[in-house]
Parts: sequence; C-alpha cells; structure tokens
Amino acid sequence: MAEVQEKGTISINTENIFPIIKKFLYSDHEIFLRELVSNAVDATQKLKKLASLGEYSEELGDLKIEVSFDKKKKTITVSDKGIGMTADEVKKYINQIAFSGATEFIEKFKDKTDAKDIIGKFGLGFYSAFMVADKVELISRSYKAGEKEAARWACDGSTEFELTPAVKKQRGTDVILHINKDSEEFLDEWRLKGILEKYCKFLPVEIKFGTKEESVEDGEDKDGKKKYKTITVDRIINNTQPLWTKSPADLKDEDYLKFYKELYPFSEDPLFWIHLNVDYPFNLTGILYFPKVKNDFELQKNKIQLYSRQVFITDEVKDVVPDFLMLLHGVLDSPDIPLNVSRSYLQSDSNVKKISQHITKKVADKLQEMFKKDRADFEKKWDDINIFVKYGIISDEKFYDRAKEFTLLKNTEGNYFTLDEYKDKVKETQQDKDKQLIYLYTTDAGKQDSFIQAAKNKAYDVLVLDGILDSHFINTLEQKLDKVHIKRVDSDPIDKLIHKDEKMESVLSKEEQEQLKTIFEKAINNKSMTVAIEPMSPDEFPVVITMSEFMRRMKDMAKVGGGGYPFMGAMPDAYSVAVNGNHALIQRIVKAETEEEKLKLAKQAFDLALLSQNMLTGPDLTNFIKRSLEFVS
Ligand code: ADP
Repeated sequence: MAEVQEKGTISINTENIFPIIKKFLYSDHEIFLRELVSNAVDATQKLKKLASLGEYSEELGDLKIEVSFDKKKKTITVSDKGIGMTADEVKKYINQIAFSGATEFIEKFKDKTDAKDIIGKFGLGFYSAFMVADKVELISRSYKAGEKEAARWACDGSTEFELTPAVKKQRGTDVILHINKDSEEFLDEWRLKGILEKYCKFLPVEIKFGTKEESVEDGEDKDGKKKYKTITVDRIINNTQPLWTKSPADLKDEDYLKFYKELYPFSEDPLFWIHLNVDYPFNLTGILYFPKVKNDFELQKNKIQLYSRQVFITDEVKDVVPDFLMLLHGVLDSPDIPLNVSRSYLQSDSNVKKISQHITKKVADKLQEMFKKDRADFEKKWDDINIFVKYGIISDEKFYDRAKEFTLLKNTEGNYFTLDEYKDKVKETQQDKDKQLIYLYTTDAGKQDSFIQAAKNKAYDVLVLDGILDSHFINTLEQKLDKVHIKRVDSDPIDKLIHKDEKMESVLSKEEQEQLKTIFEKAINNKSMTVAIEPMSPDEFPVVITMSEFMRRMKDMAKVGGGGYPFMGAMPDAYSVAVNGNHALIQRIVKAETEEEKLKLAKQAFDLALLSQNMLTGPDLTNFIKRSLEFVS
C-alpha cells in the first residue's frame, strides 16, 4: 500500500456541522460511547465472520474491546482488534459515508424548525464523538495490512482532517477522544462505568474497562486448609450471551428467573414469561416477563428495555409495545426497529406496527395456552394476571377477540367463570322484565355486605370486581356483551336491581307515604340524599342508601383518570335513600304519636343504613351510639 500523507477537506457542502450536532444532541451526550463501542463490536464481528468463512486465517487472538481514559491527558480511548481500516477505507467510511448522513441532516435542518424531530433520523454514529471531544484521533490497522501500514486520522471538529501513515502493533482500531472542557464529567471512572453498564451490558463481544481484584485458591497450607490469594483481573462490563439470544429449548425456569434478577435486581419474582423468537417477516427476539402488579401502577410502566443487536437503545418502548403491555418487564431486541428515529416516525413505521401486533398475538397465545393446559393453575394466577387481560380488553379491540375465551369472572364465593359460562349460570335467575341479563358486582365485599346478603337471599350471584381497572373493564364488557347490564350491588334496592315486574304492594296509603317522606327528609337534612318511599319485602332493611350505577361509574372512571371525564372529579355525591314502607320499623314511625318520636326513629333507621355501609362517622356516629343507648336502657 502506498504511503499516504494527506491533508484535505471533508466533503461537505455546508459549513460546520459540529455546532449543530452539539446543540441538538445535547441531552444525550453520553451516547457517544455507545456509538463508538458499537462500531468496535461491528468491526470485531466482521472479523470473526471473515475467519469463519476462511477469508482470514491468522490467529484471532484475544478480541476484547477496551475502553480506557486518562484524566491527565483528558482522553477517552476505545480500542478494538477487529477488521480495522486501510487509509483508503478511512477516507471512504469515515470522511465520506459518515458525512453524507450529516450533510443530509443539514439539508433537512435548514428549513425545518423542529430540528429534534429530524436529528434522530440520521445515525451520526462515529461523529457523535464530537459532542464531547475537541479533537478525535483514529489509528487503524486493517486485517489485511502489516504493522507499518496503519493509518492515523485526526480531526478537530472543523471540516478539515488529517490523514497520515502510522505504526500500530495490533490489528484493529483505536479511537482517541480529546475531551472538551464542557465534557470533563466523562473523565471519571464511575460515570464511564455507568454508561457502559447502561448501553453495553449485553453486547456480544467482551468489553474491558479497567481491572478488578479477585480472590482465587492458592494451594493448601501445612494443615491442609485452602489458601487464597488476590489477583488482578480484567473488569468485563458485559454478559456476551444474554438469555434472549439462546434457544428456549435449552433454558430452564431458573435461568429465566436468574436473568430477571439480573435485569431488575430488587424485584419480586415474575409470574411467568414469554420468550419471543421471530425471524419472519421481521427479526425479533426477547423475553417478556409478567410481574406482580402492585397498586403503584404507573411506577411499573416503562420497564421494557429495547435493544438492537444487543446494543441498548432505550427503555421508552411506548410505540413499539402495545400500550396495554407497558406493564410487562423484560427485553426486546430487533435490528428491524429503526432506532435512531423520532417518535412520530416510529409510530408510522410499518415494522413497528407489525412488531406490536405480533407481541399482542404472542401474549394472547401464551395466556390461552396456560388456560387450556391447566385451568386450575390459571385460576390461581388470575388475581395477578387479570390486570393485563383487562387492560388489553379495554385498549385493544383485537386483543378482546382472543381474550374473551380465557377472561374470567370471579364471584364472591371465589369461583371463576369464563364469560360464556357466566352467562349460562345467571341466564335463568338474573333476567329482568326487558329480557336483559343483569350481572351484579361488588367493589368491596366487606363494606357492601348487607347488599350482597340481600342479593344472595334472592339467589342472585355477585361478582367481585374490585381492581383499579375494573370500572373501565365493566364499561367495555357491557359494550361487548349482548343484552347484559352490569350493576353494582348497592346501586338500587334489591327488587329494583333486577326488575322482574313482580310489583310489591305498599301497605301504606298515599298520604302516609307523603308524610313519611317529609319526616325522613327532615331527619336526614342533607341535600345530596334523595328520599323515596318504596314498597319492599318486609325482611329487607328499613332504609337502603344507594348510588345509581351511572353516577358511580362516572365517578369511578374519573378517579382512575381517562375515559375523558375530568370534570367528574369535582362532582358532589348523590345518593338515593329508599325507605322500605313495608318494614315493621317504618310502620312504627307512621304510627308514632309525636313528630319528635317520628324524627328520632327515622334518624335511627337512617343511621343504621349508614352504619351498614360504613358511612357513619364522626359526631353522627357518636350521636347514634348515644341514641341507641337510650333505646336499650
Ligand atoms: P455506522 O456505524 O452507522 O455505519 P459510523 O459513522 O459510526 O456509521 O461509522 C461509519 C463507518 O466507519 C462504519 O460503517 C465502518 O465501516 C467504519 N468504522 C467505524 N468505526 C470503525 C472501527 N472501530 N473499525 C472498523 N471500521 C469502523
């Protein structure tokens, strides 16, 4: 190869791009290291490939990549022993190719105001080094070249570069960054180690960063006890064969659990997982774990890590993973996801859409398989899994189509039913006069016990829907199921909950009812309580306080947020007070001599209703107890 000594101008027809790179990649300066180490990995992989094809027959030797820094000289160096570049290749790959991306960037940038949207579309790769360096040197010896035929390239961030021959003992490339004043934070062991652990933890070629001490066996002492000594070994940052790159057939449950701990050191064991392995029509591998979801819902989102050929890209997988699976944990690795792109671009990318659909399908398949294989076990897990399934049903039409077969409803007895099974179970007993099926549910079996008991007395079944997503789930389910209404068990007195048209006769006259209403209104003295006298069966409670299903749902949904009811948060409570005209106590009120006596009894009956629903507190509770004591003493 001819000796090259050259000074030239990098072919770029705009002024300096570096100020632009610096300005717009500002928040992500640390990625320079990811870019340089990835290039080093690529160069190493290429060499291995050549060797495996028989096109490189020399000793490969130790292929470790080394990252080092020198605080005094203010340099960071990334060295690989990969294929290297000849001087011509440096000109071609570093000067021209890299800059063509940058040129394109500048061209687009000129007439756009939203530069952030564009910057990501161009992998600035090698040139990201200039975000942190005043000057970048690259010394490379191609696998084809001899010791004295290495090339040294240097550039100070202007469009001028320098290319000179150099001597390099080993095959491969050293990239030396002369760190600029603003970036001296990177000349720090822990900072660099942190960045490497974030982006390079699973790269396929070993990356050495400094050394560490290790204790090893060193023979035995004269009593036959093992001796140890401390030796210094390379500190390797990465696990070159992360679990997702292996074949599921070779892996045991322990391996998956161990890897989960590697990803999330302080987390509880996951419930189960899915190992993805697709190579057509796109490439995707990964492991998705289903964690135990706690109430701090939002905190658990955004835990999936996205990789491209084992290089960490982001844990903002919002557009790649369907929204309802954001609660999953784990890793996804795909070279087909355009990684350096902006959000809006990602959303419209057809590969991304396909990947997202594929993941949805896989998750549904897995759940279905678990359900079919061992229903008892699936039921056991349901309390933990249901949140994923319900989230899916609420947010993804396609998912519902598959999930309807394994979605379970649990009743207060702790029995589980599929949607079809449940319909069959209640179709005789819980049909109202309009041929609608009424499903009853409780959100708090403790507090709503009196209503649950009343329902059970009528041989009605009550579902438990007490999860954070259940108010949304109920809404969706009602839309999906034909002729089904879902009502909270305390949304009406029992006879009105499921209207069977067997109208109860009232023993009270119209006048008596009017009087009674006035008495109760006076006794309750609360505008948010609407009183009505209802003919109910004598064994029901004398007073029943309810909130209409509609109102309740609006309020519940507003609580979880979403559903577009932000104004509901401030809505006052509105209850209905049904006074059971057929109850003995109510008749006693009617017959009482004085108004004082009537009011006292009405208050007592109302307080009992509040008490049965855990709504009696403060001075009201104290007064109730005093009054009760009077009654019994
Ligand atoms: P990209 O990696 O996306 O192709 P870069 O700007 O990072 O873009 O690099 C441009 C090219 O320079 C690479 O494609 C490769 O051919 C060459 N290159 C960069 N770093 C190395 C290296 N360490 N060893 C060998 N070739 C390299």
